[in-house]
Amino acid sequence: MDIVLATNNLGKIREFRTIFKEQKEVDLLSLRDFSHYTPPSESGKTFEENALLKAVHAARTLAKWAVADDSGLVVPALNNAPGVYSARYSGEGATESKNRAKLLREMQGLQAEQRYAYFECCLVLANADGYKKTVRGICEGWISDEERGCHGFGYDSLFVKHDYDKTFAELDESIKNRISHRRKAIDKLLIALEHIMREEKLSSQI
Ligand code: IMP
Repeated sequence: MDIVLATNNLGKIREFRTIFKEQKEVDLLSLRDFSHYTPPSESGKTFEENALLKAVHAARTLAKWAVADDSGLVVPALNNAPGVYSARYSGEGATESKNRAKLLREMQGLQAEQRYAYFECCLVLANADGYKKTVRGICEGWISDEERGCHGFGYDSLFVKHDYDKTFAELDESIKNRISHRRKAIDKLLIALEHIMREEKLSSQI
């Protein structure tokens, strides 16, 4: 079964590929395999709305099963910023390092309890016939007052999961991939996928 991961983000693609390695019946493609494809603008107000937009558009346009990931970092003490704007937090010309620098500035002087944050990942699986399934995962922790570590992407070098003393970027990738918001959402997605693949096998035998 071919599934298109509706993203160009190399960090996400790498994590999905690693977690899906065991799932031999799925061939995971990404938007990097479809250079002519133009993604829709992410105009949703929630992770779910954006994931739905991206998955449905890719599934219809490419006539394939598609999975979209919309995810980000939520800091309640900053009115839930950067939230759905995580990738564009520092405005026009945003880069991951400018976004992290802005987050550190905004959180300067905040005390321990106000440094609470969580990553949220919303995944939508869709096909061209209108099938849609939404799952989500969250990972709670806090924001460090300086960048640490060189693995991962995005805000990984600032995020420390509860019960850990290292940022996601200091942990070996295999550890992040066992405990992350994305892993929790993908585990739920795999249950839905196994069901779909079983049904497809049964109908091909009739
Ligand atoms: P999206 O591609 O619109 O979903 O934007 C997601 C953004 O959220 C990324 O560009 C990162 O800045 C951030 N993000 C999402 N997941 C992670 C993660 O696992 N680690 C670090 N940053 C993440």
